[in-house]
Amino acid sequence: MKSAAKRRVVAVLLALAIPAFAATVHAWGDIGHRIVAELAWRQLDPSARAEVQRLLKADGADSLADVASWPDHLRDEPGREALGKATGPLHYMDFRDGKCHYVPPRECPDGRCVVGGLEKYVAILGDRHASTADRAEALKFVVHFVGDVHQPLHAGNRDDKGGNDYQVQFDGKGTNLHRVWDSQMLYTRDLKWSAYADRLAAEGPVKLPRPIAPFDNPYAQWAEESCEIVAAPGFYPDSHRIDDAYVAHNLPIAETRLREAGKRLADLLNKTLD
Ligand SMILES: [Zn+2]
Repeated sequence: MKSAAKRRVVAVLLALAIPAFAATVHAWGDIGHRIVAELAWRQLDPSARAEVQRLLKADGADSLADVASWPDHLRDEPGREALGKATGPLHYMDFRDGKCHYVPPRECPDGRCVVGGLEKYVAILGDRHASTADRAEALKFVVHFVGDVHQPLHAGNRDDKGGNDYQVQFDGKGTNLHRVWDSQMLYTRDLKWSAYADRLAAEGPVKLPRPIAPFDNPYAQWAEESCEIVAAPGFYPDSHRIDDAYVAHNLPIAETRLREAGKRLADLLNKTLD
């Protein structure tokens, strides 16, 4: 092949491959993020709810669920590509020691991990001197990152792009473990996000894991919990096959993470916006 033609083929292959990767790397799919936001919304106290409503309105949005996936689509939004690129590393964290111990700055150089993302945007959201526009934007990041840090594969300890590099068979089709956890396992319930939120809310208040000493940083604990789930035997199926037994064991874990994220997001907004 002549080199110009070869370059064209490479360009076409890259154009096909990059959107697929970009779409899978930033997790819980839209459905998971909406569920977390909706569960949180239902648990807001009246003053936090009024403030959330004010910020959403200033942003032209109707509901917390509607903005929950916004940070995942910034790179496609004209004029926001740079923000999308700059905030890309804030959606996840890689534990470096093969275990699940958060040791800054190793896990979070210059605050560039999901824990740093939460610290940064919670501070802006709670800053009454910041502009309404900045606080509305911070709210969208906070809603999203609380979801992300609870998706186990957003804070794992393997060098595989959060399971994106771990190919599996699911329902007779090839996919990867990240996508299975982002959305494909949730889709097996065959529920729209609002009905799914109803179902999870009907399970009653979730019992949150106890704060682990010596952390005064709850976000780091949430990341460590995700890492422990990923590190459990069988989380990566040796057969590279997602069978009924895998879903029966792991879907309830994913749903508990959604419920925990919803409750913690509500607590965080209640505290920050009171
Ligand atoms: Zn994300």
